[in-house]
Amino acid sequence: MPQLDPVSIVVNLIVLVIASYFIQRDAKPRQAHPLLWIMAMFVVSSTFLFQPVALIMISIIASLYITFRPKGKLGSCPRCGERYLERMASCPHCGKDTKKECPHCRTMVPWHESKCPKCGGRV
Ligand SMILES: [Zn+2]
Ligand SMILES: [Zn+2]
Repeated sequence: MPQLDPVSIVVNLIVLVIASYFIQRDAKPRQAHPLLWIMAMFVVSSTFLFQPVALIMISIIASLYITFRPKGKLGSCPRCGERYLERMASCPHCGKDTKKECPHCRTMVPWHESKCPKCGGRV
């Protein structure tokens, strides 16, 4: 049974809180399930009894998150102003459409455009 080192536990918890904050903030606009990643970090930390080795596991999970999160340009939602991935058709914050369909050629056009970039028709 390894000794519980209070300093390691405190350092681990601080790193967990900071990492959770950043993942939560980064994952929301991308709809990347922040809770799953944060829970994985907590489970790994407690599995390793908040020993220094748990910090290495947390960095590995954080790198996995960065590698596998949905990538793309973030824009501001035209409805609520929150950040979201520009290629998404609806905003993860307010749930409203961020794109509209061109009535002429059925292309998805960004909400703020008044002309279809494909056929030039009014949308
Ligand atoms: Zn929105
Ligand atoms: Zn069109």
